[in-house]
Amino acid sequence: MSQIIEDNKVATVAYRLTVEGEIIDEATADDPLEYLHGAENIVPGLEKALTGKKVGDKLTVTLQPDEAYGEYNPEDVEKLDRADLPEDIEVGIELLLEDEEGNFFEVVVTEINGDEVVVDFNYPLAGKVVTYDVEVLDIRDADDEEIAHGHPHGDDYDDEDYDDEDYDDEDYDDED
Ligand code: ZN
Repeated sequence: MSQIIEDNKVATVAYRLTVEGEIIDEATADDPLEYLHGAENIVPGLEKALTGKKVGDKLTVTLQPDEAYGEYNPEDVEKLDRADLPEDIEVGIELLLEDEEGNFFEVVVTEINGDEVVVDFNYPLAGKVVTYDVEVLDIRDADDEEIAHGHPHGDDYDDEDYDDEDYDDEDYDDED
């Protein structure tokens, strides 16, 4: 019986993500992405485009920011005290910051003015029009545990890699 991609299926896909022709991210058929459909493991526009697809289907989708990584929010920047940051920071580098509740944020240093450092909390692809070239490689039913967790437990899945209690979709998207 041939399956189609729908909620509570685990789909395996190869993809290439490009922005203005530049390859940003890629998962080849040898090292594909496995994701749980309907669980926001992937950006909304890509999930929508893959709904109803079968193994062997290939598609190219170009997504506006609101269907991909969100709009760029110019207010989502913060000024930090240079003394609180590593000594070797420079403009353009990424930092992982932790807030008082233990949440981690990836930020980009955008300005250094003496003792003041400006960091940008926007996701690097926020505000970008992105294009995905995707091929569907496999589709299977998710098991109950995967559905409960909201992500697939594939062959190379290691529960240690995901703090399942505090699971955050963004962490999963960032995983290479
Ligand atoms: Zn899990």
